Amino acid sequence: MYLGTSTVTLYKRLLLVLIASGLIGWLFGIFWPAIAISSVALLIWHYHHLVQLVHWLWQSKSINPPQASGTWGRIYDGLYHLLNKQRKKQKQLRHRIRQFRDGAEALPDAAVVLSTDFIIEWSNKKAQNLLGVVCPNDVGQRVDNLIRNPEFSQVLTNYEFDTPFHIDSPMKEDTRLELRMMLYGADQYLMIARDVSKLNRLETMRRDFVANVSHELKTPLTVMRGYVEMIQQTGDDFDEHWMNVFGTIEGQVTRMDRLVEQLLILSKVENNSTYDDTHLVNLSELVEGLIKDSQWLNQEKGHTITSEIAPNIFIFGLDTELKSACSNLISNAIAYTPDSGNIVVSLQFVKQSNGVGVKFSVKDDGTGIKPEHINRITERFYRIDKSRSRNTGGSGLGLAIVKHVLQHHNAELVINSQWGQGSEFSIVFASSSVEQVEQ
Ligand code: ADP
Repeated sequence: MYLGTSTVTLYKRLLLVLIASGLIGWLFGIFWPAIAISSVALLIWHYHHLVQLVHWLWQSKSINPPQASGTWGRIYDGLYHLLNKQRKKQKQLRHRIRQFRDGAEALPDAAVVLSTDFIIEWSNKKAQNLLGVVCPNDVGQRVDNLIRNPEFSQVLTNYEFDTPFHIDSPMKEDTRLELRMMLYGADQYLMIARDVSKLNRLETMRRDFVANVSHELKTPLTVMRGYVEMIQQTGDDFDEHWMNVFGTIEGQVTRMDRLVEQLLILSKVENNSTYDDTHLVNLSELVEGLIKDSQWLNQEKGHTITSEIAPNIFIFGLDTELKSACSNLISNAIAYTPDSGNIVVSLQFVKQSNGVGVKFSVKDDGTGIKPEHINRITERFYRIDKSRSRNTGGSGLGLAIVKHVLQHHNAELVINSQWGQGSEFSIVFASSSVEQVEQ
């Protein structure tokens, strides 16, 4: 409670004491000594309360201030009021922290709060099981001193926090973790680690299943095709109706064979997720070869295929995969461009912010793609016009293969297309994938 005491009142009181003591002194003929004695007494009284205040602030364990009257009583009341307000705030804060910690403990994931220098500030119990980070023992340590993993250290060094990243759990064998780092408050990071081993196992099972089924289908299809071709060659024994039937069977078996082939390539590319940065592929030669093949394949549709290929472009990676990606883009351009269209294949160095990259592009003046399809055409089995795709022998897997190949070649697929005017599909290799030569 604030009891207002104005400066004027204080001076009035001081004056009253001095006048009273002066009067008494004057009566006894000791005016000045009386004034001096009362001033000293007043000073002693204030010093006494000051000493009491210092003692209470620094030594006393009691939260109640010393009892006093007058001005000092009001000072103590004010301090007590301030202390109570502070205690209430602290209690609220403690409650909030407890709520946050309970929430973080209830998370199914490991959570670690880090400073901007990646020093551990707090972690929940799951962080102990999955990451080996123990709170409060490890508070104050750099997180990469505890989680010793080269991929993790690289992510921290390069601040690559836009997408989740994966590491093996340092605590549990066969446990794969998905880690996310997000800015938290003004100067902290929240690191969330989730056990994704089960998901990974399911994904591996799915991939193995597709690979095994495709592999198993390959032999019966080859046998069937062999027999149908044999029958077609000894065609004299069958009338025209049956020859048409065998022709259809042969067409469908070829289509299925191509689909199985594409599925096998996709499984292979998916299973091989590592980036080979030791093997150099002469992309210029590879693309020249593909263009020669396509001229031959293209005879029926009569497109004009022109090329602008810079010589001696070398890319780190796998030639089988790069060949598959580039040939898919060329064969798509041939398939989706009407007869006598124009196709331009180019391979050039391009300037990038951190060096020289490479751009491989296939431009056609074919059907083009409506904007709403562009984001989805790299999904497996996504075809814009199913019947048209079927006629062109498309499986809907070509661009999915391209996307997967690019994922482990530090490259990205850029699609520019105008409905009714044509498309340009480009593969842009980052400078880190390109053997740098003097320009
Ligand atoms: P598909 O085997 O059916 O060609 P892709 O994955 O290679 O499968 O392509 C997916 C779809 O993208 C195709 O069905 C087609 O509609 C479209 N597409 C791909 N390339 C082109 C292109 N150059 N011009 C127009 N459409 C294209």
